[in-house]
Amino acid sequence: MSEIIQIGQPPIEVHLRRSQRARRFSLRISNSSGIVSLTVPKRASAKVAIGFAQDQEVWLRRNLEKRPEQVMPVFGGSILLDGRSVTLAQGSQRSPVLQDGVLSLYGHEEALAARLRGYLKTLARERLLAASEQYARAIGRDISRITLRDTRSRWGSCTSEGNLMFSWRLVMAPRPVQDYVAAHEVCHLIEMNHSAAYWQLVESIYPDYQNQRNWLKTNGAMLHRYVF
Ligand SMILES: [Zn+2]
Repeated sequence: MSEIIQIGQPPIEVHLRRSQRARRFSLRISNSSGIVSLTVPKRASAKVAIGFAQDQEVWLRRNLEKRPEQVMPVFGGSILLDGRSVTLAQGSQRSPVLQDGVLSLYGHEEALAARLRGYLKTLARERLLAASEQYARAIGRDISRITLRDTRSRWGSCTSEGNLMFSWRLVMAPRPVQDYVAAHEVCHLIEMNHSAAYWQLVESIYPDYQNQRNWLKTNGAMLHRYVF
């Protein structure tokens, strides 16, 4: 359960979470969503919690400002594809054309975001399906279904039935990052956890996984800047 308190002017919304296990106050800004949350011990008073958040107002404003700004796709603007910047242009052909760092899309600018989303999703499905099938073969398992979503809190997931889910925004990350996330989820077909055995399995099919993990930690929020 979370209550929302407001700090300062203009107000910053802070989600107050009471936790059985929390021993102290901890204030954080979610990397992906920008939501500010304050975790407090179960019995802490709201007044003390508000006071704590107020004391951190300067820190909060500074860090909220540092967050990457939202970007609306426009013709002449750019987006990321495979970790590279691609310029958006108005094209005359019905299907999207990617050539020499320019992505041409048909139609008016009002339709651009939706077209772009469709294009990225299709591309993400092709890439992540191929990679998942390849890694599943490498560990001798089968995948059943792949779903693409626009998730905020995770890049992928895997069920015990072999259903994989990925964020289609991954197609904006470099190819090795896309491959790593596919390998990561596929390994959950064998190990439904993040144990040492699990990471050993990841390493056996994707030795360079640590670099790609770090890339996502550092740059993941950037992929959520674009408003499609
Ligand atoms: Zn995992």
